Amino acid sequence: MRSYLLQINAAIIIRESKMHIAEKEICTPVSLETDICVIGGSCTGVFAAVRAARLGAKVAIVEKQNSFGGVATQGLVNIWHSLKDAEFKNDIVAGLTLETIERLEKRGAVTRIPHDENRAFVLNTEELKIELDEFVKENGIVPFLHSFFVAPHLKDGKLDSAIIENKSGRSAIRAKIFIDASGDGDLAARLGLPFELRRHLQPPTTCSRILGTEGLDMGKLIREHREEFGLADDWGWRSDVAGIPGMTMHAETHVFNANCADADELSMAEIEGRRQIRAYMDIVRKYTDRNPVLANLASCIGIRETRHINCAYRLTEMDLLEGKKFDDAIANSSYRIDIHHEDRPGISFRYLDGTEKIFENGKGWSFSRWRPERAENPRLYQIPFRSMIPGKYENLMVCGRSIDCDSGSFGAARVMVTCNQTGEAAGVAAALAAGKNCGINKLEICEIRKALSNGGSIIH
Ligand SMILES: Cc1cc2nc3c(=O)[nH]c(=O)nc-3n(C[C@H](O)[C@H](O)[C@H](O)COP(=O)(O)OP(=O)(O)OC[C@H]3O[C@@H](n4cnc5c(N)ncnc54)[C@H](O)[C@@H]3O)c2cc1C
Repeated sequence: MRSYLLQINAAIIIRESKMHIAEKEICTPVSLETDICVIGGSCTGVFAAVRAARLGAKVAIVEKQNSFGGVATQGLVNIWHSLKDAEFKNDIVAGLTLETIERLEKRGAVTRIPHDENRAFVLNTEELKIELDEFVKENGIVPFLHSFFVAPHLKDGKLDSAIIENKSGRSAIRAKIFIDASGDGDLAARLGLPFELRRHLQPPTTCSRILGTEGLDMGKLIREHREEFGLADDWGWRSDVAGIPGMTMHAETHVFNANCADADELSMAEIEGRRQIRAYMDIVRKYTDRNPVLANLASCIGIRETRHINCAYRLTEMDLLEGKKFDDAIANSSYRIDIHHEDRPGISFRYLDGTEKIFENGKGWSFSRWRPERAENPRLYQIPFRSMIPGKYENLMVCGRSIDCDSGSFGAARVMVTCNQTGEAAGVAAALAAGKNCGINKLEICEIRKALSNGGSIIH
C-alpha cells in the first residue's frame, strides 16, 4: 500500500505545473451578514453555533458535506468516550455532549457502556445526523450545506468575510466573529497564519459498516492474509452499532503517508481507503464461510490529523498526563493518550495513572509504565482557551482537532467529547464578543467560563 501511494505521488509531481491563469477580478455578492460564522459543521462546529445562538447571537454554519456531524456521521465513527473522571467517579463533561446523548437515547440510538475505557457511548450516527439538523433549526442557525469555504476576505486588514462556493455560485458571509471548526484549520491557513503539519501525522482510516462479520476475529484474519490482498501490516478496531443487531462498524486499516490537507493526496487516500475495505471483505469471503454485505461506506475518509494552528499556547503531553490546571480551562477530559502509529504498525496508549500499553504486530500488547507509581494520580486533564486563539486576527478562533497541541497531547485531545467542548467554548466566546462588539482578546476569561457553566458545561 505504501508503494501504491508512492506511485501516486510520482503522478502528482507530473501534475504539478508552473503554469498559471489570471482570473478576472470577481465581484462577490454577500449572501448573509451575521454575528458569527462557523466554518465546518461537525459536532464541534454545530455545538459552537448552538451555544452562540442560545446566547442570542445570529449564527451561520458552513459545511461542505450534505449533513452535519463530520467524522462522527460522514466518517461513521460512532464511539464517544467517558464523561467521567479517570476513576469513573465524578462527572467532568456535560453541556451539549450530554444533551445530545440524552436526546438520542429517546430514539434508542445510543448504547451506554459504563466503566469502559474504550467506549462509553455507542451511537447510531444516522440518527445523530437528524438530531444535529434539529439543533440547527431549533436555534435559528442559518445552514449552508454543500458549501465549501474557499477564501477569507479582509477589509482594512481585518477579517471581514468568509467566501463560500456552492450550487448557487460564489458568495461572502460577513460576520463579526469567525470560528474555524474545519478540522484542517482551512480558514486560519488561508489567512496565512502559521501552523504545524507534522512529519508523522496520525493516519486516516475509511470506515465501513458491514453485515455478516459479527464475532469474527478480523484483526487475526487480516494479519494472516493481508499480503495476498495488498494490505499493510496494521492494527484496527471495530464496534457494534446502536439499534442495528448484526451490523459491525469496522475501522480496520489506515492509509499511511497521506497528508489529507493536500488535495491530491486526499483524493488518492479516499480511493485507497475504499480499496482496503474491499480487500478485507475479500479476505472474509475467501477464508471464512461468511458472505459479508457492505451496508455503508463512510462518505469521506476519516481524517485523524492535519494542521495544528499556532496559538497563544501549545498544549503538551505532560500538561495532560500531569493533569495541569489552567486558569483559562474550558474543557475537561480523562481519555488516555491514543496514538495510531504512522511509522510502524500498531497503537500506543498512555494513562493518567502512569501506565502505558503498546500494540505491535507480531508482539501483541505490551504493558509498562511511562512514570513510576505514585500515591495520587490526576483524575482529569484540561484544555486551555489560549490553545484556540491564533492571535493576529482578534475575531478568529479555532476549535476541534486543529487546536495547538503537540503530538502527545493531540493523541488525547482529538477525541470527540473533547473537541465538542472546544466548540462550545468558541461559540460562547464568540457570542460574548459579538454582543459587546469587541475582539476575543478583550474578553475576560472568567466571563467565558461563567457563561459556559451557566449554559450547562462543567467548568473546574
Ligand atoms: C477513523 C477514526 C476513528 C476515530 N475514533 C474515534 C473514537 O472512537 N472516538 C472519538 O471520540 N474520536 C475518534 N476519532 C477522532 C475524532 O473523530 C476526531 O478527532 C474529531 O471528530 C475531530 O472533530 P473536528 O470537528 O475537529 O473535525 P471533523 O470531524 O473532521 O469535522 C470538520 C468538519 O468541517 C468540514 N469542513 C472541512 N473543511 C471545510 C471547508 N473548507 N468548508 C466547509 N466545511 C469544511 C468537514 O466536512 C467536517 O464536517 C477518530 C477519528 C478517525 C478518523
